[in-house]
Amino acid sequence: MPVAVYRGPGHLEVEERPVPRPGPGQVLVEVDHCGVCGSDLHLIIEGWGKPGTVAGHEFAGTVRSLGPGTAPWAPGDLVVGGPSPRCGKCRRCRQGKPSQCEQRSGSVADHSDGAFAGFVLCDARALRAVPPGLTLRVAALAEPLAVALHGITRARLEPGEKVMVFGAGPIGALALAVLVATGHHAVTVVEPSTTRRELARRLGATEVLAPDALERFERWEPERLSATAVDVVIECSGKKAATEAALHQLGRGGRLVLVGAGMEEPTFDINRVLLNELEICGSFVYDADGFERALALLASGVLPSDMLLEAQDVTLDALGTAARDLAEGRIAGKVLVVPCRSSEEVVS
Ligand SMILES: [Zn+2]
Ligand SMILES: [Zn+2]
Repeated sequence: MPVAVYRGPGHLEVEERPVPRPGPGQVLVEVDHCGVCGSDLHLIIEGWGKPGTVAGHEFAGTVRSLGPGTAPWAPGDLVVGGPSPRCGKCRRCRQGKPSQCEQRSGSVADHSDGAFAGFVLCDARALRAVPPGLTLRVAALAEPLAVALHGITRARLEPGEKVMVFGAGPIGALALAVLVATGHHAVTVVEPSTTRRELARRLGATEVLAPDALERFERWEPERLSATAVDVVIECSGKKAATEAALHQLGRGGRLVLVGAGMEEPTFDINRVLLNELEICGSFVYDADGFERALALLASGVLPSDMLLEAQDVTLDALGTAARDLAEGRIAGKVLVVPCRSSEEVVS
């Protein structure tokens, strides 16, 4: 099978590897589509990856073979990669917060080989069935959508509250699409890329701003209550400057939800946080029922998947270029890799 192997920062190599055989509890899935995630960009471009490994976790495909102990799956089942199994026993798991499982490993780089490959070996417990009527191509949005839904859950939005989404890459765009579809009418998007600002406009953002259009004010301004202050910022870019600017957009009691993983650490004014009782909270992976809700939302057709997905799928050979274009904001939508297809098939 063809596999895109990470060799070092910015360097992928497509090579042939034997199709793995499923062991106990494992399912072999033929990858139909695999989305390129922001975390894949950190792995591939910024060097979070371990040389020799294969990234890619946003996949949809078909079950081809199974090891023992993999009920209820059967060959031919259509599936997406779901959440890693959690311990189910710790305090946080028992509270219904699997994203905070005290037994899970801490790093996104810590995983077995992923789905930028013809086939991927999966833990049977980590798969979810694709609902009838949903194509595998659109089902590949389930994982990033579950991430966006978790960010919205963490924001604890009340009806009528004003929201800003920082970063209109795939996660920000999905969060915006969900907010629009669920009737939040005051969503401002802040995004440096014109391509992504255009997408945010088409997705129904109330207002779309470049970062330099944000209101500027003194660093220490704890009593600020501006007409443009918002209740919630969902920060999806992971950029230091965006995170710092995001905190400054909050009115009293505002919440900053960090969804985008970052490489550079932001600096905060503690007095602004303290005197305005701001909350800064992390959002890691998914709600307990995140994939079920994501798949149901995708199957319902209320989200404009044609806008959220890039029209042109890419082959494994083109993944490196696509990753760079995504990291630099030249591509707005979610890029899907089709590992089993050649460039001629994709172009036609
Ligand atoms: Zn992802
Ligand atoms: Zn646990």
